[in-house]
Amino acid sequence: MAEIKTVGIVGAGQMGNGIAHVFALAGYDVLLTDISQTSLDKAIATIDKNLDRQVTRGKVSAEDKAAAMARIRTTLKLADVGPTDLIIEAATERETVKQAIFEDLLPHLKPSTILTSNTSSISITRLASRTDRPEKFMGFHFMNPVPVMQLVELIRGIATDAETWDTLHEVVRKLGKTAASAEDFPAFIVNRILMPMINEAVYTLYEGVGNVKSIDESLKLGANHPMGPLELADFIGLDTCLAIMNVLHDGLADTKYRPCPLLTKYVEAGWLGRKTQRGFYDYRGEVPVPTR
Ligand code: NAD
Repeated sequence: MAEIKTVGIVGAGQMGNGIAHVFALAGYDVLLTDISQTSLDKAIATIDKNLDRQVTRGKVSAEDKAAAMARIRTTLKLADVGPTDLIIEAATERETVKQAIFEDLLPHLKPSTILTSNTSSISITRLASRTDRPEKFMGFHFMNPVPVMQLVELIRGIATDAETWDTLHEVVRKLGKTAASAEDFPAFIVNRILMPMINEAVYTLYEGVGNVKSIDESLKLGANHPMGPLELADFIGLDTCLAIMNVLHDGLADTKYRPCPLLTKYVEAGWLGRKTQRGFYDYRGEVPVPTR
């Protein structure tokens, strides 16, 4: 099994900052990169705030927090993460973006570097095939918010070797999380089941069967879900939800995965959920207000 000490994370959005948080806390040296300095600054501020919350709740000591923060460095240069032991790509859910990142990384990697993607839906085998090391390539799918959610989906591409698989299993164990194995088919396990439910909730809204409040309340109180599906969609990001539905629709060629036109409309409006302060709810005031 390969020994992992240094971890490069590409993309410092909501997933990238959470992944950096849990790796630093588990003792790994983390190098976080993004194309935007604002994203990097925001990520560090978010990690600091989230660690503070864990300290207040007695889950993490002040010393461990300080040590974790000291283990995280940032850079705007993608090439800088090349020599790390393990790279986790957590950039925008668009295949062309991810492919370009892996292509640009290739000349800077060391031979032993393991490549992974946190993609929610894109084919691991296809991403791996564009690199020089498909046997050292895997899907490494964290859940949002990363510091809170216990599951990590491990997705084997067609060429992934046993050593890479075992190495990532051990990393998940060291993070104190639980791995679930998924085969490389569109959206894997969690999103194959979750996204059609969210999409159906948007159809229910689109067809006027319910409004935002009644749909979310129905699933919370009627199915015991901790969050309503529309609230959850805002939390995930509506662009990410739409991208996953498109991958399911294209990849499985079944009309049951047709993205709801209303979901597309929200994305076209730039109403992407919490990250843009507006989605199925408007987050600009004291309390979230339904937009429909
Ligand atoms: P996000 O929009 O919050 O962050 C994406 C980040 O990627 C941004 O900071 C952006 O500047 C950066 N980026 C874009 N192009 C880049 C490039 N070429 N190089 C470096 N950085 C680049 O998105 P997110 O929610 O963090 O999602 C990231 C990935 O994680 C996606 O693949 C998504 O499917 C996956 N994911 C998301 C969730 C979720 O609930 N949001 C859950 C699991 C997995």
